Amino acid sequence: MSAAQRGHIMYKLADLIEKHAQELAELETTDNGKPINESRYVDVAATVETYRYYAGWCTKLEGETITTNPGFFTYTLREPIGVVGQIIPWNFPMLMQAWKWGPALACGNSVVLKPAEQTPLSALRIAELAMEAGIPAGVINVVTGLGENSAGEFIANHMDIDKIAFTGEDKTGQIIVKASAGNLKRVSLELGGKAPNIVFADADIDAAVKGAITGIFFNQGQVCCAGSRLFIEKKAQDEFMSKLIERVGKMRQGDGMNEKTQIGPQVSKEQQERVLSYVDIAKKEGAKLACGGEQPSDLKKGYFVKPTIFTEVKNDMRIAQEEVFGPLLAVLPFDNMETVAEEANKTRFGLSGAVWTSDVKKAHKFASHIKAGTIWVNCYNVFDPAVPFGGYKQSGYGRELGKHSIELYSNIKSVWMNLN
Ligand code: NAD
Repeated sequence: MSAAQRGHIMYKLADLIEKHAQELAELETTDNGKPINESRYVDVAATVETYRYYAGWCTKLEGETITTNPGFFTYTLREPIGVVGQIIPWNFPMLMQAWKWGPALACGNSVVLKPAEQTPLSALRIAELAMEAGIPAGVINVVTGLGENSAGEFIANHMDIDKIAFTGEDKTGQIIVKASAGNLKRVSLELGGKAPNIVFADADIDAAVKGAITGIFFNQGQVCCAGSRLFIEKKAQDEFMSKLIERVGKMRQGDGMNEKTQIGPQVSKEQQERVLSYVDIAKKEGAKLACGGEQPSDLKKGYFVKPTIFTEVKNDMRIAQEEVFGPLLAVLPFDNMETVAEEANKTRFGLSGAVWTSDVKKAHKFASHIKAGTIWVNCYNVFDPAVPFGGYKQSGYGRELGKHSIELYSNIKSVWMNLN
């Protein structure tokens, strides 16, 4: 079909998602546990915007003419890759599907998507809406199932799949890369993170406190770019920590379907146990528990973990180096700008980082110095479909969102016409 027709169908899909926003938000919260207001105003809203953004790209994909050699007329074609395998995690099931389907469909590929086994519902419902929007049968395919030795691995190994896009844990990413070798399929990876969130004493401390909370407790801490290592300048430590603990103490934890809930349960018992095991590890390594660290006594049904903060953390402790993927913040005090810059980069990950300061020179210096794909200055967790997102180091490769995702889902062909 024409690019314009493709765009129309994608706009229609976005409209249908918007029309079914309440149903989809409830489905996402039922599946994942996240607060209904976040499902509604973050997951569904950003999903709609992502499809609209990539719908617009359909008619803007062009090749180029290259006239460096007068004996030839040379041009490039931008072509779809073909069949794309996509494997996504459980933390943002609907949004990760949109990040994958948006650019893949805009470029004219067909897709085989495997949602996480914990959260397949929204992927299946969006697939139904995509068919209702007019995406032809066979262009989108959803295969539910497990990862290891099952649907995920079969996709990664499949000889007829030309590209694989994976979001998930770094260890699984390594397995995907090995599996891709069979037919040398293209690979893009969005993996984990251990983001430094650096607060200088000259920052707006109230704003930094709010940003730190969003940074680590949004989505129950199950966020790849979570600001899980908070570096606080010693001069501001007392003020910052007392405000932080006070605000965290007021967070309303409970059933995700309750409109007032700000922090829901972890996605599974396995995740709850994982977070609580890191509480024990942190205590054994000498970090000081400032709040949380257990299941709330009034929420025994469900996999809840209280928002947890450890102070007196050293950067080589496991809670400062390993991805907990839960509501657990490690606070590391500093008093030297040079050493904090070094410490911030002492991690195998490089997905994101943040700096809070009123000094514009310091902000630019750190934005350039931190080895990560996204840096937020005086804000946290801000996203837009037009702005690229992805990792340095072991946080993966390839950039999703923006025009960069178009590169992941298209091939360039050069055509030489002999004029002699
Ligand atoms: P995971 O790697 O265990 O699972 C992710 C997906 O991979 C699931 O669909 C799973 O079934 C599948 N899978 C598992 N083993 C597989 C195998 N051997 N072969 C093929 N597929 C397999 O990760 P998770 O625990 O579900 O998700 C959490 C992780 O995702 C965290 O590390 C987090 O940082 C990361 N994440 C990254 C981003 C990003 O954009 N960088 C976004 C969200 C989540």
